Amino acid sequence: MIVRVGVDDTDSKHGMCTTYVGTVIADKLRAHAFDLNGYPKLVRLNPNWHLKTRGNCAISLHVECDGSRISDMKELVLETVRELAELQCETTNPGVVFYGCDRVPRELKKFSKMVIQSVVEIEDAERLAQRIGAEYCKFKLGRGIVGALAAVGETFEEDSTYELLAYRTPGFRGKKRMIDANSVHEMDEKTFPRTFDNIDRNTGEIRITPHTPCPVLFGIRSQDPGSALEAFHLVRVNEPVERWIIYQTNQATDAHLVKSTISNLSPFRSAILSGSISQRPRIIPGGHVIFNLRDEGGEISCAAYEPTRRFRDVIRKLEVGDSVRVFGGIRKRQGLPLTLNLEKIEVANLTKIYVKKNPICAVCNKRAKSEGKSKGYQCEICGRRFPPGSETYVEKPRELEIGLHEVPPRARRHLARPLARMISHKRA
Ligand code: ZN
Repeated sequence: MIVRVGVDDTDSKHGMCTTYVGTVIADKLRAHAFDLNGYPKLVRLNPNWHLKTRGNCAISLHVECDGSRISDMKELVLETVRELAELQCETTNPGVVFYGCDRVPRELKKFSKMVIQSVVEIEDAERLAQRIGAEYCKFKLGRGIVGALAAVGETFEEDSTYELLAYRTPGFRGKKRMIDANSVHEMDEKTFPRTFDNIDRNTGEIRITPHTPCPVLFGIRSQDPGSALEAFHLVRVNEPVERWIIYQTNQATDAHLVKSTISNLSPFRSAILSGSISQRPRIIPGGHVIFNLRDEGGEISCAAYEPTRRFRDVIRKLEVGDSVRVFGGIRKRQGLPLTLNLEKIEVANLTKIYVKKNPICAVCNKRAKSEGKSKGYQCEICGRRFPPGSETYVEKPRELEIGLHEVPPRARRHLARPLARMISHKRA
């Protein structure tokens, strides 16, 4: 029988990482002669959920286990969570789920989708677990059972990627990561786009290392497990690697996005909207760029925040009337209307922009001056007058490129599908 094991909410902002807990569990299970079926799963949850954990990811393992060994297997999992989870941290409330099944029932698949795209409460997870016969174990408040159950129910039917994660030994955690940057560039040259997000192409910055005190040394994202492994062997590290793992994951798949219309939006979710620009981009204090988008049913503000850097230069070139598709999270701030926090934009059609030119006085070879709205023009030199309507309009070249534009890797959500993955894959 296959028992699906799900774990979530073991980390805190001071350390630990649920992917590490999953890796230790996988290693221990193998050491105790349990076989794992398929790759371990790393499931990123709704990034806009107000109760999300730091990394906002849950893991699941599919364990081959006959009836006589189930209790040993469970004890092994629970003891690892007890030992590694940041239980002293108030906001860390782990949950573990065990579910023996051959096929994931439809309502569990639906639940996983909800946890990735929407908002779910602990009670929803408990009720569903009881109904389908999944066992769950709550540590403290046990909020983690939501993500744990979602990870168990995720089947990656639409799309998935892989991430190879290498972990540091305890003595190195919290210290600078000793990675040879040149080897990362070489690795990227050899394996991109089979691997992606290794380097920020605009800044040259290495993107495989996190900036948190967690046990992760580096992570390599890839289309397939073989490319991740190939890349792993190309990265030179100057500190010991305690262990590593390859997860199958919903990262970089846009699994959080739901095609929607402006009138149907609600906060804490992420959406894809089609419409046209109804108010030109404006820069607000802090360097954020905001424009308004309209569709048949409503209007919404869309924001490219300061950390999106050069993406804002793209956004600033939009003009009223341009047709676009926007991708991003829906935010509600007190006293303000809903705002879409841009992750990507697809420019579908550019409107023609005309610049008004006053008539030229043929005698003086100089443009006449406007006398005010609908009052015509007058040459400042010879005084000759020109009636209203004698102006001409010249088309202004548009600098914005048709197609998809995305925020830089440093500002990108784990779940957001990078453009590097959009060429060879079906569109969202
Ligand atoms: Zn003149």
